[in-house]
Amino acid sequence: MTSPLLEARDIHKSYGRGSTRFDALSGVSLAIDAGDSVAIVGKSGSGKSTLMHLLALLDAPDSGSLFVGGADARGLSARQIGRIRNADFGFVFQQFFLTPNATVLDNVILPLTIAGMAPRERKARGMAVLEQLELADKAKNKATDLSGGQKQRVVIARALVSNPKVLFADEPTGNLDTTTGRLVEDILFSLNRDHGITLVIVTHDTDLAARCDRQIFVRDGRQVHAPELAGAAA
Ligand code: ADP
Ligand code: MG
Repeated sequence: MTSPLLEARDIHKSYGRGSTRFDALSGVSLAIDAGDSVAIVGKSGSGKSTLMHLLALLDAPDSGSLFVGGADARGLSARQIGRIRNADFGFVFQQFFLTPNATVLDNVILPLTIAGMAPRERKARGMAVLEQLELADKAKNKATDLSGGQKQRVVIARALVSNPKVLFADEPTGNLDTTTGRLVEDILFSLNRDHGITLVIVTHDTDLAARCDRQIFVRDGRQVHAPELAGAAA
């Protein structure tokens, strides 16, 4: 039997301490297989981003276990965790986090620059993903000189440049109008369908959630089994 790509077992996470302590996650368990598309759905403040951050090894739970490819994350060194995040995970956030004065190409290849890849190779890789996302003609533009939808495609290009197995997307269409948002969604789902990239998408958009193979509903830091209970139904 093969292990799930990602697994959480009874994870808990709180912020603050004493009288300001807040339990953001109170015992969540789930497994995500390679090739899945999974939506994490719930109202604002329900713990969706916290759950995604823990699954992506950006933060550690207070208790419970996380497994990546069957390996307990607690047994991994900081260096190993860094390597998994850089090589296997790509991130797409609602805020674009692009460097405004750098070119589109330089933004996209930033992870390769950080990884120390030679300039010629990273440029070739960057142009290949920009072509895949139909942005090659924008390679030399400043990132600020783009529409919201184009910026989000640049963010997706940057997330893809390292050939990740998993894309974590937190409200990826939250700052986009409906039409542009749908186009960005189409790109994400074609990456899943045509390239087998696993999608973990945090959203309160029930239409986007419905496009995923599976929905995980969260309410007050706990999983619930119906959308109405998560208060996310439109
Ligand atoms: P969601 O993504 O569903 O909106 P979050 O996971 O961001 O929810 O947050 C869950 C709860 O934890 C919220 O009440 C939020 O205010 C709180 N929270 C999140 N991050 C922090 C933090 N760094 N410090 C304190 N409280 C936090
Ligand atoms: Mg959030």
